[in-house]
Amino acid sequence: MGEARRVIVVGGGLAGLAAADALAGAGLDVTLLESRRSLGGRAASFEDPRGGGLVDACQHVAMGCCTTFRDLCRRAGLADALRTDRTLWFIGPDGRRSACTPVRWLPAPLHLAPLLVGMRHFSLGERGALAVGMLRLARLRTIDPTLTAAAWLLAIGQPERVIRLFWQPVLESALGESLDLVGLGAARKVIVDGFLAHPQAADLLVPVVPLGELLGVRLAGWLARRGVTIRTGCTVDAVRIGSDGVACGTVSSGAESPAAAVVVAVPWRAAARLLPGIAPAADEQLSGSPITAIHLWFDRDIIDLPHAVLVGRTSQWVFRPDARGQSGATGYCQVVISASRGLRGGDRQQLVDTVVAELREVFPAARDATLRESRVITDPTAVLSVRPGVDAVRPLAATQVPGLFLAGDWTATGWPSTMEGAVRSGRAAATAACRHLGVPTPETVPDLPRSWMTRLLAGRAD
Ligand SMILES: Cc1cc2nc3c(=O)[nH]c(=O)nc-3n(C[C@H](O)[C@H](O)[C@H](O)COP(=O)(O)OP(=O)(O)OC[C@H]3O[C@@H](n4cnc5c(N)ncnc54)[C@H](O)[C@@H]3O)c2cc1C
Repeated sequence: MGEARRVIVVGGGLAGLAAADALAGAGLDVTLLESRRSLGGRAASFEDPRGGGLVDACQHVAMGCCTTFRDLCRRAGLADALRTDRTLWFIGPDGRRSACTPVRWLPAPLHLAPLLVGMRHFSLGERGALAVGMLRLARLRTIDPTLTAAAWLLAIGQPERVIRLFWQPVLESALGESLDLVGLGAARKVIVDGFLAHPQAADLLVPVVPLGELLGVRLAGWLARRGVTIRTGCTVDAVRIGSDGVACGTVSSGAESPAAAVVVAVPWRAAARLLPGIAPAADEQLSGSPITAIHLWFDRDIIDLPHAVLVGRTSQWVFRPDARGQSGATGYCQVVISASRGLRGGDRQQLVDTVVAELREVFPAARDATLRESRVITDPTAVLSVRPGVDAVRPLAATQVPGLFLAGDWTATGWPSTMEGAVRSGRAAATAACRHLGVPTPETVPDLPRSWMTRLLAGRAD
């Protein structure tokens, strides 16, 4: 294949991997360049110090509404590596457990009735207020782009306990940012597409093998078999733009790689460095939000649920490893805290003590267990902060330079900064590149269809 059909993808996170998949599917000659030694980007794993195998730096989950991510996993033969948890487990401030299972046979949004009824830490009045709040959010047709979710919830009179024990944990974990900072439009997206749209929308998809294996080995292997050339340990220092103003390759350590199109699928700060004047100026226009994972190794297994949302506590989500793969070490569990800036004043030991004390309050088996080891990992720019007005800054895939395309969870996908957003961005960039090169574009993966009742309530689509 000649250079006329060669496309270089810069960045081997989910956006770059998805772009490479779609470009290879269009019959193009794809080379993927990744600066690290392994693929997967922010969805990464490390070696368990206690010999349990690979552990995810931070547990990632997707939802049933993440159709493009699921489609990629299905086609790559990875569907078996995702467990579907239909029941969401909440643990209230008093330690009471609520198993919330949407009903598949009821038309959306009625399928959520058990979720509302099931939340035992809420009074009847609070459950009613929550239902009204969700419906009012869905019915919003015009979103004030300057309004935060917190400001809107207060303005419509949502009770403090409902905000603190539902909206805060649900929206903060879905968007990775604090309720005081997220834009109202992003909050509506989570509630409509992630809960109200379809009976399967809120299914929790939990990888049962480490992300390092899922993406770095299995997905990468599948792409290589489809003809994608993958080069890791290769940092791209510049994108070459020819005298005709068209992107014509990349430069790494002084060596040029010619191409007919380039997809840059790196995080927003790296994009701003690589493409000044083309990508948005990172720190002035876009900011990140931190997520912290607290890895704990006890002398025995302490968690008797597959996952749990701890509401009204510092700990937000707790996961135990799946017997099929995630760190095999006995007694391992992981607590995830989104929007974790300033947690316990940055004192790691204090944070571990707080989290362990909370686990002992809600999981009886933890009371007699001994903590053998802990590790706190914070990614300070884990996700793009979806603040009011951010959509005006998130760039589209096509740039002002012909042949140069942007991908990444931070680009204008209409989705929060998630695995689904990353995969969508990769496909969008590949579609734009295919158009530029005059080859057939990849098919669009449909969203979960909205039920007639949800369409009446929230509209056909956003
Ligand atoms: C702690 C944490 C928890 C998260 N939890 C969830 C979750 O539960 N669910 C969910 O859906 N999402 C979650 N996310 C978000 C999710 O990980 C990201 O949205 C997604 O992985 C982003 O993919 P990406 O390809 O856009 O970017 P990245 O994964 O950042 O990939 C970009 C790649 O580009 C490479 N690169 C950068 N510069 C260069 C260069 N010059 N040359 C070559 N390569 C370069 C980088 O090394 C990297 O591999 C979480 C993220 C973090 C950090």
